Amino acid sequence: MARYRDSVCKLCRREGLKLFLKGDRCFSVKCAIEKRNYVPGVHGQRRTKVSDYCKQLREKQKMRRIYGVLETQFRKYFHLAERQQGVTGENLVKILEQRLDSIVHRLGFAASRAQARILITHGHILVNGRKTDIASYRVRPGETIEVRPKSRELTAIKAALEGAKRRTLPSWLELDATNMKGIVRSIPSREEIAIPVEEQLIVALYSK
Ligand code: SF4
Repeated sequence: MARYRDSVCKLCRREGLKLFLKGDRCFSVKCAIEKRNYVPGVHGQRRTKVSDYCKQLREKQKMRRIYGVLETQFRKYFHLAERQQGVTGENLVKILEQRLDSIVHRLGFAASRAQARILITHGHILVNGRKTDIASYRVRPGETIEVRPKSRELTAIKAALEGAKRRTLPSWLELDATNMKGIVRSIPSREEIAIPVEEQLIVALYSK
């Protein structure tokens, strides 16, 4: 599968804001945005005129990068969101938020979505008591997500849970940190999903 292999901090710098792709480092002074908040590359500090198309494209890239989804898969999510009832942009955010890797990160078992994907593919995460190694698995209300008992001593997971104390647990999730177990209470509303994206611009981009 195709994968982005360059520095993820460049992605934040390209979008001009923290996308929190690196766990603890994002909260430290080492964060690249704190030191070099301009677009990477030799012309990065030049001022350029931003067209409407450019704004829409940037919003789409930002959302893709936050959730770590490649273009083809992102388009599939968009078409799925279009077919659902309700507002397409909001549907898209909700679908992405329901991905297993995103929920594992939100629950605090992983410091970032990228780390969550590794934990899932390595079989450390159980959904409803069964091993699920598909990071894109769409979690539904009522389902439980937990760290496999054998993996509960992993330093990376313990450190992630410790670091997650800095973040607020979304109201649509419930966490039993002692047993490393969480439950999805409901599908979140758009207001409950804290991501700095104007999804209507993405809808406008794909509707051309
Ligand atoms: Fe982005 Fe985190 Fe890198 Fe800062 S440390 S630039 S927030 S990935």
